[in-house]
Formats: sequence, C-alpha cells, structure tokens
Amino acid sequence: MNDSPPVAESFSARLIAWQKSAGRHDLPWQNTTDPYRIWLSEIMLQQTQVGTVIGYYERFLARFPDIASLARADLDAVMSLWSGLGYYSRARNLHKAARIIQSEYGGCMPGNRADIEALPGIGRSSAAAIAVFAHGAREAILDGNVKRVLARHRAVSGYTGSASVQARLWSLAEDLLPAQDIAAYTQGLMDLGATLCTRSNSACGRCPVRDDCLALATQQVHAYPSPRPARVRPVRQSIMLLLTSKDRVLLERRPPAGIWGGLWCLPNIESGELHAPPEQIVNRWHPVGKAHLQPFGNLRHGFTHFTLEIAVLRCEFDSLDVGAQLQHSSQLPQGSQLPQGSQLAQGSQLAQGSQLPQGSGLPQGSQLPAGSSVTLSERATDLHCAEPDARWWPLHDALALGLPVPVRQVLESLQLSG
Ligand code: SF4
Repeated sequence: MNDSPPVAESFSARLIAWQKSAGRHDLPWQNTTDPYRIWLSEIMLQQTQVGTVIGYYERFLARFPDIASLARADLDAVMSLWSGLGYYSRARNLHKAARIIQSEYGGCMPGNRADIEALPGIGRSSAAAIAVFAHGAREAILDGNVKRVLARHRAVSGYTGSASVQARLWSLAEDLLPAQDIAAYTQGLMDLGATLCTRSNSACGRCPVRDDCLALATQQVHAYPSPRPARVRPVRQSIMLLLTSKDRVLLERRPPAGIWGGLWCLPNIESGELHAPPEQIVNRWHPVGKAHLQPFGNLRHGFTHFTLEIAVLRCEFDSLDVGAQLQHSSQLPQGSQLPQGSQLAQGSQLAQGSQLPQGSGLPQGSQLPAGSSVTLSERATDLHCAEPDARWWPLHDALALGLPVPVRQVLESLQLSG
C-alpha cells in the first residue's frame, strides 16, 4: 500500500515550507497587503527583471504613494517616471486604471479577482496575485516563471504561448492550490521560478519539489518549456526629423494608441516626402523661406514583433521667430529643389560614420528627482508651431520627458556635442 500524499498536497506543502525557510522575504513589494503597491510591482515586473524594477518602483512610489495621487497626476509625469522601463502601455493603463478605481470604487482596489482583471492592463495572473497578497484569496497565478516550473514538473510539452498549452497549465495551477497559506505558496512558486528553476542552469539539487519532477527524472529539464516556434522578425523603415534651434528641439507627442503611445518623439515623415523641397517638408512644424536637411545618423530599435530602422535628418533654424525666418521670402519658393547633393533617394543609406555614439541610452536609475516633471509643461515654450501636438522644448527639459529610447539617444548625443 502506498501511503505517500497526493501530488497536489505534497507539492504545495513542500513549496510553502521551502518559501518560509529559503524564499525571498525582503523585496520592496513584500511584507505589505497594500493592493496598490502589489499592483504596481506586478505591472512593473512584467517583461522586466527584478534588479531593473526596484529603482523605478521606489521612485514611482515616492512620487505617487497611493492610488489617489496617481489618479490626480498628469500623464506626462507618469510617463516621465516610466521612461526607460519600456512597454509604455503599462504606464498608460496604470494611470487609466487608477482613475477608474478612484471614480468607480471610491479609491479602493476591488477585492475579487474578476473585478481586478476587468481594470485596464491587468491580466488574469496579475489580478490573481493582487487578490492573493492583498486579500488572501485562493487564486492561481501563471506568469512566465510559473509556466516554466509547472511545464517542467509535470512535463507539459508544447509552446506555453499556445492556447491549448496555456489551458493545460492553468488547470494544473488550479489543481495544485493549497487549502491554506496561499500567500506563502504563491510567493514560493514565484521564488522557485526566479531563483532555482531558472531558464538556464537550474539548481535542481536544491529544489523542494525535485523528488517527483518529471523533467528531472527523465533528464529533460531544458527541453521544457518548448521554445517559441521560429519566426522572422520583419524590418520597418522610418525617417525622423531632428528640428533644432540653438538649445531647443521640436518634439511631437505620439497618439495614445500604437507604438510609443503618449511619448514625446521626433516628427516622422514618409520616404516619398523627401522628393519635396526641404522647406516644404519642415513647413508643417515651422514655416521658413529656406531650409537644409542634413543626415544626422541611423538607429535600429527592436520591438517584439519587428525591428525599426530609423534615419534621422537634421534641420537647424537660426531663429524660431517666424517673421524673421520669412522676411526674405513671403511665400515658399515655387518648384525649388533640395540643394545639390542633399536629396536623399528613397531607400538610400546615410553617410558612413554617422552612427550615434554607442551606449548613449538612458542609464538605469537616471530619473530626475520626484516632482520635476510637473513643472515641465510650464517651462515648455509656446513658440509658434503649426502642429497642435508639437512643442519646442529646451534640450535639458526634453530629456526629462517620457521619450522612446532611440529619441533619447539622439537628444543625448546632441547634449554631448554641446
Ligand atoms: S527539479 Fe529542477 S526542473 Fe524540476 S521543478 Fe525543481 S528546479 Fe525545476
């Protein structure tokens, strides 16, 4: 007769005991039942390592200590604190959800998982984690680390992003839930995936559930989970304009939806527009009688689904005084062409050696002091700009805005070159 306990009971009991003795207990979002702090950590930790998140998390909380302060905040201030963390829709949804909680739930995060999951930007696993840690709800989580642990322990093959494998893993995650000590169990699953059952070099010898791990028993640990099916990431081309005048740079706020939604960006043009005279190209942002576009550099930026190649063209204006710019020409020149040699053929490459400096991205943890972004809009100039969402920013202030990484690299290289 076999007296060993069923796998579910045994699995959770071993994991809970291990978490209490050897798990993580001092992360900034632990030792609290404040749903706001738990929610913020869940969102920041999506696609991002703990070591990167900690600084952002602490600065965000220092500036917005609760849901009410986040709901009151200007989106620019939120995006500025998120700048460099990536996946900016997370910040927009966080802000939107805070306003919903404030208006529909009296400022208190709802208590059950389904209501939490209905808020913008909160998936099933994050909603479950908030319900577990804030309210002790008996809910299953299934983030990337937990998928790996369960796929290995129960030898679930197939790509974990596919609907059928996800359904199998959710079912397993629910079957394994303990009757009590749900917070220690959930934290234990997270800790096991983050510290022992890692993608490479998993430390099975110290694993609390190694005795019945099917992947380990068959020496197939690294065969699980199955890799994502190969795919070719397409390359897209983009042309950006770096419009400057002394220490000012023109930036345009991106629409709320789509890539870099809500961030401040260099203006984009279509490659077909390069056949027009340069003053006609820049006229949309700053009317001038004469303009010169010069190659500034090339950038590559990887998104999840494609790679973006960006050619940056620069135009420096002597003055932002529209009258002064037009005084020698009361209308745009008819049929004028780009100066000889400056016309860029469609698909042409910029001059060799025009790359931006390597490693000029935003250093981790280089955010401005809390509160600084609030004054930015007050300092932005109201100098004439024909496009309603575009502004001439002093370079120093522009660097404190929420910017896409490649745009930040361009502005930092301007700052370095003085
Ligand atoms: S024994 Fe190894 S592969 Fe299995 S769950 Fe533990 S760490 Fe992961």
